Amino acid sequence: MSPTSLPADHVARFHAIEAARFLAAHPRCVALHQQAQRHFLFGVPLHWMADAPSPVPLYVDKAQGARLFDVDGHAIIDFCLGDTGAMFGHSPAAIARTLAEHGAFGATTMLPSTVALEVADLLEQRFGLPMWQFTATASDANRFVLRWARALTGRQHIVVFNGCYHGTVDDVFVDLDAQGAAHTRPSLLGQVHDLTTTTRVVEFNDLDGLRAALAAGDVACVLTEPVLTNIGMVLPEPGFLEAVRALTREHDALLVMDETHTISCGPGGYCRANDLQPDVLVLGKPIAGGTPGAAYGFTTQVGARMQAVKTASPPGHSGIGTTLSAGLLTLRLMRTMLADVMTEAAYAQMFTIANRVADGLERVIANHGLRWTVTRIGARCEVQFAPKRPRNGSEARAAFDDALEPALQLALLNRGVLLTPFHNMLLASPAHTEADADALINAFDDALTGLKNA
Ligand code: PMP
Repeated sequence: MSPTSLPADHVARFHAIEAARFLAAHPRCVALHQQAQRHFLFGVPLHWMADAPSPVPLYVDKAQGARLFDVDGHAIIDFCLGDTGAMFGHSPAAIARTLAEHGAFGATTMLPSTVALEVADLLEQRFGLPMWQFTATASDANRFVLRWARALTGRQHIVVFNGCYHGTVDDVFVDLDAQGAAHTRPSLLGQVHDLTTTTRVVEFNDLDGLRAALAAGDVACVLTEPVLTNIGMVLPEPGFLEAVRALTREHDALLVMDETHTISCGPGGYCRANDLQPDVLVLGKPIAGGTPGAAYGFTTQVGARMQAVKTASPPGHSGIGTTLSAGLLTLRLMRTMLADVMTEAAYAQMFTIANRVADGLERVIANHGLRWTVTRIGARCEVQFAPKRPRNGSEARAAFDDALEPALQLALLNRGVLLTPFHNMLLASPAHTEADADALINAFDDALTGLKNA
């Protein structure tokens, strides 16, 4: 095998072997997939589930802790964890208890509750921001934050980093091409506006690029994850985020930190752990126990500007907020997560497991003579098909191998472990054990041997 890439026919042979193995072991998934064609696009309830690496979708019967149980009777060690929604394990006991105790007492009312205040106190203690609003998803939170940022600054433009993902927020689907020119992401469906007229895109870790994007003084906000996690992982270089903070202040643009994924970096997310001070912080995915629920927090100054702009505008629809947001049951689940589940002890276990996994993967990669990189932060790590950690979205994209990655993921699934589809990211939960970490490392080793011998 060559150190970073492998011949296409070799990978295709390996993939075919693994696909046959999956089909043989999942007769019920095959039958259900046929049945599902009548009801669902591509035979799946959410169209992109069909892009998962298995030849037919893996039908899950139930999930608990760090395990998925499929309809064909396999138990799978889950390092995808619903791409972070189940970061603290599937159905932690305290969440199951909350559902059992409060399920009979109302889910949604369009009214505030005392539990909302308790949640806001818990959020402030943990993230250091005093003011909060709630949404159903992180996508919504980001969308509404962009709207607020434009409304209160009176500026049209936003800045994002190349390769970012912040949910289904049209404004951010802008990429840099090989020449460094911005263009709307070609995969985006049904968008009729040229998004590049109001969205500027800069490479992560490129301070000169950011300085240029902010120079005209017409940027409402910079929206970013502290670590890019959706184009493969890209870590900030030392001082980069501090400089982003200083530049946004200098140009009176809001700094919005999307911690939907980087909440895996510590109990207060990456920003608290690194003493960054965003104007707005976005949370989603795990904070309501894996049920729809998200929040954005902000400083008192930003809150005052939001109130002023809302008060000055005509009464009526603001375009912010959805009916099922801040519901009673969702907030009870958030309270439980913040008070009882997202604990220091939980994070300590997650970090132990993630480091054990990352160390093991590095060892296996080296033993197989491959020059791939394991990028890690907090409870998360990622295998990238490149000899060095990527510095930005373009480098991270260049490390993708669209044939090898699904073949490898399928091989791992056949060996009882699930990674996050569409790139090689994995996440550790407090429900994982060291034996689970070792099972993943051994599966990876065995898959690479299978690949070599295919
Ligand atoms: N922000 C980030 C950083 C994300 O990774 C995602 C989803 N992958 C979202 C926002 C959107 O989350 P949701 O799909 O739950 O709206």
